[in-house]
Amino acid sequence: MELLRSNLSRVRIPEPTNRIYKQECCISFDSPKSEGGLFIDMNTFLAFSKDCVVWNYEKTRNPVYLHIKQTRKSIPEDRPLKKPTRLAIGLDGGFDNNEPEYEETLSIVILPDFVSLPFPSVELPEKVRLAVDAILLADGAERKEQLASWIADKKQVSAFATNLQQIDNGVVIPRSGWKCCKCDKTDNLWLNLTDGMIFCGRKNWDGTGGNNHAVEHYKETNYPLAVKLGTITADLGAA
Ligand SMILES: [Zn+2]
Ligand SMILES: [Zn+2]
Repeated sequence: MELLRSNLSRVRIPEPTNRIYKQECCISFDSPKSEGGLFIDMNTFLAFSKDCVVWNYEKTRNPVYLHIKQTRKSIPEDRPLKKPTRLAIGLDGGFDNNEPEYEETLSIVILPDFVSLPFPSVELPEKVRLAVDAILLADGAERKEQLASWIADKKQVSAFATNLQQIDNGVVIPRSGWKCCKCDKTDNLWLNLTDGMIFCGRKNWDGTGGNNHAVEHYKETNYPLAVKLGTITADLGAA
């Protein structure tokens, strides 16, 4: 405990705007479920596996870490598995319902000797308790990124994406120099995700825009997912 007190100046209480990493090692793919658990740097709020935390300590000299270790609970064999009903992570009906349950152990670990203090404990300095509470309450930055990528685009598109089958037809999508497969349009182009074909977008009421080739292709093939080239939005309705 004295060791922790002498290092208190290196502990920060995260602000709401801080990005907190707590689900995956910044360097490897280790998670709290990995053998050594995950170590959250209580100064930078970056996460490290047991191997990588040594490297982080050598680089930053940050000594105080929140250690999160999740171990699998034994599950009764006859427990029915719930199927995910929606394409969602960590929401009701999402894939998390399917995961085995884990037991979480928390401790404060001080490097370089991996001195471990149990959490929660009334003996811990208040600053450390506040910092840990804030870390635990925060949505992991990794999770936010994940959720954003699933939810940002239309739910309609996700529903198609679940069943998306891609055809191995040898079509190679060039990095640039795109052109509609049916006409000479080189802008307002849409890439069909099923067959990799590129077509122009809708014709506007005033005659500008494309020649409707993406829409026609969809009507012919029923391949539903197209993304506008040069953007990251996926929007079937606007094609
Ligand atoms: Zn790692
Ligand atoms: Zn065209």
